[in-house]
Amino acid sequence: MGLKMEPLVLTPDAPPKGLDSWKARFVRAGNILLDLVLPPRCAGCGKVGSWFCDDCKESIQPVPEPICPICGRPVAEEGLCRFCKISPPKLEAIRSAAVFQGPLRKAIHALKYYRRKEVAEPLGSIMAARIHHPEAIDYLVPIPLHPRREQERGYNQSALLAQALGKEVGIPVVLHGLERVRHTRPQVTLSAEERRKNVEGAFRCSSGELRDKSILLIDDVCTTGATMDAAAEAAWDCGARHVWGLTLARAVWDPDGIPDGSAAR
Ligand SMILES: [Zn+2]
Ligand SMILES: [Zn+2]
Repeated sequence: MGLKMEPLVLTPDAPPKGLDSWKARFVRAGNILLDLVLPPRCAGCGKVGSWFCDDCKESIQPVPEPICPICGRPVAEEGLCRFCKISPPKLEAIRSAAVFQGPLRKAIHALKYYRRKEVAEPLGSIMAARIHHPEAIDYLVPIPLHPRREQERGYNQSALLAQALGKEVGIPVVLHGLERVRHTRPQVTLSAEERRKNVEGAFRCSSGELRDKSILLIDDVCTTGATMDAAAEAAWDCGARHVWGLTLARAVWDPDGIPDGSAAR
């Protein structure tokens, strides 16, 4: 289907090796200082002039059609994917702005692991193209991090994306509609079933604000949809009227297939 696939190594959740060493911290501190004196540099290709350049934006690949109408996973033929036929997710629909690969993948890593917070702005606006009826959505709700991880990172990348997107499409963001009550293992080395178990019950409704509202959950990368699914459960507990999900990127490579991260073990 003309989609160039990357090698089966998925690292949406795994920090690069040795990142928390003193050396990495030193590099980060250096980056922060350099940002004060140097012009912006593209997080996808390194070119000077913007945080995510036009060439990298153009290299972004939409998730190839046809996709499953519920979970948004590419399928070989129109209709529900084999997973949704057996047990559909708790969301009404999940969509993603682009395939998790190339410069976009690099930029997401920069945002998550290298404190390139400013990249959230151009990346968040990429998601806007997937929202056709903003009037139908009351709130954008980012998938929360566990407070401990948020403290380590200094921010929640999904919240930054939601804020950038919200600004673009005029939908308010509820930052603390849900909370993560369980510290979960990074999903990257887990199989689909393990991912589901890993995040089961990880989220809780933490605000009355979502009651009777139509909400769009926002996350950076969707692999099996397990995280979205667990968060959706908490959103329904809040009394939400509609729950949809949108991620910036989707890890895909095989129609009807499921990335299970086995290659990354
Ligand atoms: Zn670039
Ligand atoms: Zn599906």
